[in-house]
Amino acid sequence: MSFQLLTKARKRTVFSYLLSRAFSHRSERACRPTFGIAFDIDGVLLLGNSPVGGSPGALKRLYDADGKLKIPYVFLTNGGGYPEAKRAFELSKLLGINVTPSQVLQGHSPFKQLVKRFENDLIVAVGKGEPAAVMTEYGFRYVLSIDEYASCFENIDPLAPYKKWTTKLAVTQNAKFNESVPRNDVFSKRVQAAFVVSDPVDWSRDIQVLCDILKTGGLPGRNVGPQPHIYFANDDLEYQTKFPSERLGMGAFRIALESIFNRIHPQSLEYTSFGKPHPSVFKNAEILLEKLVASLYDDFYDINHDNTSYFKTLYMIGDNPAVDIKGARQTGHPWFSILTRTGVFKGKENHDKFSADLVVDTVEEAVDYILTKECAS
Ligand SMILES: [Mg+2]
Repeated sequence: MSFQLLTKARKRTVFSYLLSRAFSHRSERACRPTFGIAFDIDGVLLLGNSPVGGSPGALKRLYDADGKLKIPYVFLTNGGGYPEAKRAFELSKLLGINVTPSQVLQGHSPFKQLVKRFENDLIVAVGKGEPAAVMTEYGFRYVLSIDEYASCFENIDPLAPYKKWTTKLAVTQNAKFNESVPRNDVFSKRVQAAFVVSDPVDWSRDIQVLCDILKTGGLPGRNVGPQPHIYFANDDLEYQTKFPSERLGMGAFRIALESIFNRIHPQSLEYTSFGKPHPSVFKNAEILLEKLVASLYDDFYDINHDNTSYFKTLYMIGDNPAVDIKGARQTGHPWFSILTRTGVFKGKENHDKFSADLVVDTVEEAVDYILTKECAS
């Protein structure tokens, strides 16, 4: 008798346990977001180093009260110049949130895919910030910044004596010459590829030195040789900073370099550009967002067996119609484009050529729209 009572009691306990598990499991599933967000940075979250459009408050809504991430999101920028970990640290400070390096996708992030091809070759990294550090972090072994590289060649920049701020000074006084590349190697080893990691600082010197590298087959001052590869992290013609009108970006630098190279060399410049609006950038962002969900929910892989997209909607919030909106629209499902008015786009209505799914004033409004629609706020 007592045995039966015990059994009944145990059955009841087990039943109620299973019931509660089923309910908690179901509610967990209902809460697990089937949407994600990709934020452009310049002109959406920041203007220069200042937050814009209520960005700190908008991003805080994606975390719970304990500061734990509850809505999967990434930063999807064409900008760069610093390794992802350093950029994550800076963004955390500027926006008052805890950003992890895996949430930062920069224009140069796809350069990682080229490590195997150029791992043991001499390469030159161009741009503001720490372009050589970015490439070294990705696994390239013989990298020199264009500052370091140019400093090896006397008189390569005839305008250097007139540059009061000279990058030559910066190199000799501050920067350490990359010791993994012996100085003598630059006179005997051909540069196999140039990577424009971020916006070039000294256009006249960089165009001169890149033309030298590209037309000689990687040995400036020598005879003509086959053109080494050149890769650009993005092809943005313009971008928005604190200045009232747009500034010239890497795409403008590419046009300048290409126009000049094509006038001094019999063959046209061959180059590859990465960054938005290429659909591959958005597909990669989707993969990273899925990984982010998997890191937040242990049973993610148990329920997501098939190869279809996990997300019902992915929101791209950007300020540049030709870059952010065009890219999201070209990629198609599950991307939904939201255009803000805090950066490049300042129109009253939608953009006429690359119209967004939604136009708002600020990123704060965009996040509010998303959370209300997804019932997650
Ligand atoms: Mg932007």
